Amino acid sequence: MNSYQKEQSDALYMVRRCLATISSTERQKLESDVAGYLSFRKEIGSFLSTHFSGVCTQKCYNSRLSACCSREGIITFFADVVINALISQDREIDLLLSVLKKPNNGFKCIYLGEKGCLWRLKPIVCEMFLCDPAKKKVFIENPLARDKWDELNKRKKMFTWPDRPVLFDVLEKYFMDAGYSSSLMYMHNSPGLLRVKRRVLSCATSCKGGD
Ligand code: SF4
Repeated sequence: MNSYQKEQSDALYMVRRCLATISSTERQKLESDVAGYLSFRKEIGSFLSTHFSGVCTQKCYNSRLSACCSREGIITFFADVVINALISQDREIDLLLSVLKKPNNGFKCIYLGEKGCLWRLKPIVCEMFLCDPAKKKVFIENPLARDKWDELNKRKKMFTWPDRPVLFDVLEKYFMDAGYSSSLMYMHNSPGLLRVKRRVLSCATSCKGGD
């Protein structure tokens, strides 16, 4: 197991352990916290299947190219792991853990199975990735789809961009408060994202000072 697989595996075990120990009320609270995000993901899924499934299936999936799913090419947020675990069956998490134990000697993502991604809800970075040739093909023919895609990208930030209280940050904090720590907690350890938070904080402080 290389370091990428280990950090993924550690995060998965951590999330599973925590979810197994919290009360059903706590779990329901988490489920209700992520409900809005899941509706958003449903909307993206339906957009992609309407506009892109033909292009992607033909170009990438049938040819088994799966060019977007390259080896260790994705950023997985800790919140991706939490949300996926909340909606997955135990056996689905077992499967992820078992593939992470095997060496990955290929060029593809370790989570890419025979029938596609093994995550029930793939990480947001994967979901929002469209390659340039696919975008070009679809958006030139349908500019309204481009507008919708831009709008979805903006809305994604309401969950993932910490210039305000966002779900991805809140979920990390929940686990940190419970005593867990993971290198995938980018909202709390990525210099870039920490800079975003600091900027917002200093702006809020100076605005207050100017009142
Ligand atoms: S996690 Fe899933 S969608 Fe993302 S790169 Fe891996 S196989 Fe592809």
